[in-house]
This record gives sequence, C-alpha cells and structure tokens, in this order.
Amino acid sequence: MPTNPYTWLEKSLATIHRANWYRSVQAIQSRPGPKITLEGRQLLNFTSNDYLGLAGDQRLVAAAIAAIREFGTGSTGSRLLSGHRPLHRQLEQAIASWKQTDDALVFSSGYLANLGTVAALVGARDLILADQYNHASLKNGAILSGATVIPYAHCNIQDLTAKLEQHRDRYQRCLLLTDSVFSMDGDLCPLPSLLKLAGQFSCMLLVDEAHATGVLGATGAGGVEQFDCTGQPLIQVGTLSKALGSLGGYVAGSAPLIDFLRNRASSWIYTTGLSPADTAAALRAIAIIRQEPWRQSQLWQNINDLKQQLLETIPCFTTTQSSLELLPSDSAILCIQTQDTNIALQLRNQLQQAGILVAAVRPPTVPTSRIRLTVMATHTSDDCQRLVEVLKFCTQKPACKIIE
Ligand SMILES: *Cc1c(COP(=O)(O)O)cnc(C)c1O
Repeated sequence: MPTNPYTWLEKSLATIHRANWYRSVQAIQSRPGPKITLEGRQLLNFTSNDYLGLAGDQRLVAAAIAAIREFGTGSTGSRLLSGHRPLHRQLEQAIASWKQTDDALVFSSGYLANLGTVAALVGARDLILADQYNHASLKNGAILSGATVIPYAHCNIQDLTAKLEQHRDRYQRCLLLTDSVFSMDGDLCPLPSLLKLAGQFSCMLLVDEAHATGVLGATGAGGVEQFDCTGQPLIQVGTLSKALGSLGGYVAGSAPLIDFLRNRASSWIYTTGLSPADTAAALRAIAIIRQEPWRQSQLWQNINDLKQQLLETIPCFTTTQSSLELLPSDSAILCIQTQDTNIALQLRNQLQQAGILVAAVRPPTVPTSRIRLTVMATHTSDDCQRLVEVLKFCTQKPACKIIE
C-alpha cells in the first residue's frame, strides 16, 4: 500500500506549534494609519512600514484611481512585451533623480528586485559575502545565483576583511550584500567602510535601502545619502511598499547596470509589469516626500521621543531574573529584546488586549525574541506616551508576572 505523501504536513505543523513558532494572519479592516480596526476593535498601530503615513493618503489614492481609469487594472504582460507604460519610465526617472543615479528599474516587489539582481550579477565562479542578518530576499537571491556564499558577522568589518583576504583571490566576481537599515534590529550597516573594502578587493556592493528610503538622508533618499556616499559605485535596491506606501521594488545605479538587468534579471523579464495603480501611487509618493520634508522631520521627532521614553522606562521593568532591553537603533524600527519567546508573545498579547498592536518577532526570523515597534510620522505624542504607559502597566510584576 502506498503511504499518503501529505501526512508529514500535519506533523510538521505540530512541531511548529510546539516550538511556539506558529504564525497566522489578522485582518485589518480599515485604511492604513496609526489607528486601525482589527477584527472589529480600534487599535493603536506600531507595526506598519508606512513610515511617512502615505499609504492612506488621499493624493496617492487619487493618483492610483486616475491611473486605473487611463490604463486599466493590469499591465497585461512582461515589460519587454505588452507590459510597459509611460508611467513605469516616469517612476524610474523619479527614483534615479532622487537617488542621483544614472538610471533605475522597477520590479514587482523588493523581494523580486533582490532575487533577480543578485542572481543576475554573480554565478558559479563567483563569491558573495553577506551580512548574517540580511533580509531573506538577499539570502535567497544568493542561493539562487549559484555563487559561493560566505556570511560575515553582523556589521563586522574585521571579519569581512579576514574573509576577503582568505577567499577573494579564488573567485572571479565578488558581490558584497548588506541591508542599510537591518529590518529586524533597526541598526545601520557601516556603509563607508564597506565601500572602502569593496574598492580594495574589487567587489561590487549591493545595499538594500528598504527601511531607509524616505527615512534616512537629508532628502529622504536613504542610507547612501545619510552616509554621504551618493555617487559612489553602488547597487541600490529598495521597495515602493514601505515609506512610499505602494507596492513594488527598484534597483538604482549606473546605466550599464540597469541596462544589464533589463536583459538578464529573470524576476523582471519573466513577470508582469508593475500595475498602473501601484506605479502611479509610488510616483506620487516620491513627489510628496520631496515637497513635504516635514513628514521625515516629524518621523524623527517621534522616533527620538519614543526612544527616550523607552530608555527611561525599561530599567523599571528589569529584574535580576529577567530583563528587557532596548536594542540599539538608528531608524524607525525599535526593538525590545525579551529573554524568551513566551515573554515576547505574552507581552504582545497583553498590549493588544490593551489596544496596542506590536509585533513579537522570534526565531527563526531572529536569533533572540523581541517586541518590534515601528514608528510613523503620523503618530501623535499621545500615541507614543500611551504605548509607554501600557508597556509599563503590562510589565509590573504583580499585575502580569511577565518578568518573574
Ligand atoms: C521589506 C523588505 C524587502 C522586500 O520588499 P517588498 O517590496 O515588501 O517585497 C526587501 N528587503 C528588506 C530589507 C525589507 O525589509
């Protein structure tokens, strides 16, 4: 008798449940923003990547509707066949102008931009050196490329240098991969040092600006701008889905790089062009970000205020048996590290009962469990204060025994 080839699925799910790694979705029934409706309840939202509050902005909505009226809902084909619209080119030119690169190319998502770019740039005879905490899309792009992949310790230039000295000579091309803002910790890569090493060892350097675009730099152009590395030989990847409030991804860089990707990036060639609505919304978002720098300033005011309040409060709920720790961050992502997964989950549930939505991030996504908060320009100081008060209440020993 043949055995049922699908029974392993239930066993595997049971293992995921036992390890407390099980994940499921929750439906938000309102427009994006700092206050949302989740399963009928209004909650204060600290989980959104919509850093500048643009995903619910009336002007993006209007731009998307106008694009649908003019061009329909779908792009109907690959950009190289029937899927290319004038809007795509306008968006690519707007990104290139903002990032001060020769050119840019938009993909259907940031994930696909990383997958396609990494796999196009290196192959079996090449080497990838990648920060151990990089986003999954960079890791999977590296695997897809067939290159030899060597991870280096998080943001550790010494380790990267040693690995370059040891391995670089034995390979043809070499590609360094890093997030600029690390998505689960909120810290920054040492970009100037990475650029210097890339120069010394003849390596290409790809930096993923997903959480940096709209957040860092004088004009919001990202970590490259903040580190004063504009114009350097870099491959910049990013997303239209976070601060730009839309959906899609992009690569920005030199003219030959973009021309090459149009010919060799499989995840761009063999997929349908970005929808007219998403393209128009992202284009409008870039114009708004450049016209309204107060959004970015307000975001930073909120980040710094909340960080300050958390730093003052967190020692109050740390005991000898257990501790909560605010991880170092230079972005809109703030993480409170907990001792184990159960504490993170309990705290997340208690905050949600009290009307505040936060994320509990746990292994295998990250090495240590944590509460992850994302700050928006549209949070009020009352919103941030409320979060800190509820957090204080939830971690009082007698009330909920979180730290015992
Ligand atoms: C979100 C994210 C991506 C993926 O972008 P999408 O447009 O959502 O697919 C890639 N890299 C990093 C670092 C991210 O945080």
